[in-house]
Amino acid sequence: MKHLTQEQIEEIKKILLDWKKQILEDAKENIGEPLSYEGGDEIDRADTEAGRFLTLRMLDKERKLLKKIEYSLAKIEAGTYGICEMCDAEIPFERLKARPVANLCIKCKEIQEENE
Ligand SMILES: [Zn+2]
Repeated sequence: MKHLTQEQIEEIKKILLDWKKQILEDAKENIGEPLSYEGGDEIDRADTEAGRFLTLRMLDKERKLLKKIEYSLAKIEAGTYGICEMCDAEIPFERLKARPVANLCIKCKEIQEENE
């Protein structure tokens, strides 16, 4: 990642660490919500179950994001951060700043999305 200066790397690292902290704090709040249901009518129960489902879904999404953040941090440590995993192109700092967990350049990302 020679195309990134030490300052730029530090900046991205900070974004990633703050992001991770935020997710963990949000997750803690969600887990703190009571998941059990007591009393009420059918409509209430449906609402509660939908809400619980959403919370679980969100945690799953957050878990995946956390993994990506951890992965990006590991790559920073390894010195391979900011390099496209498909074509080895250098990913511009602006793109990394906007999306710190990006592991593909824009060109490869587009190809990947077309194939999905
Ligand atoms: Zn690429």
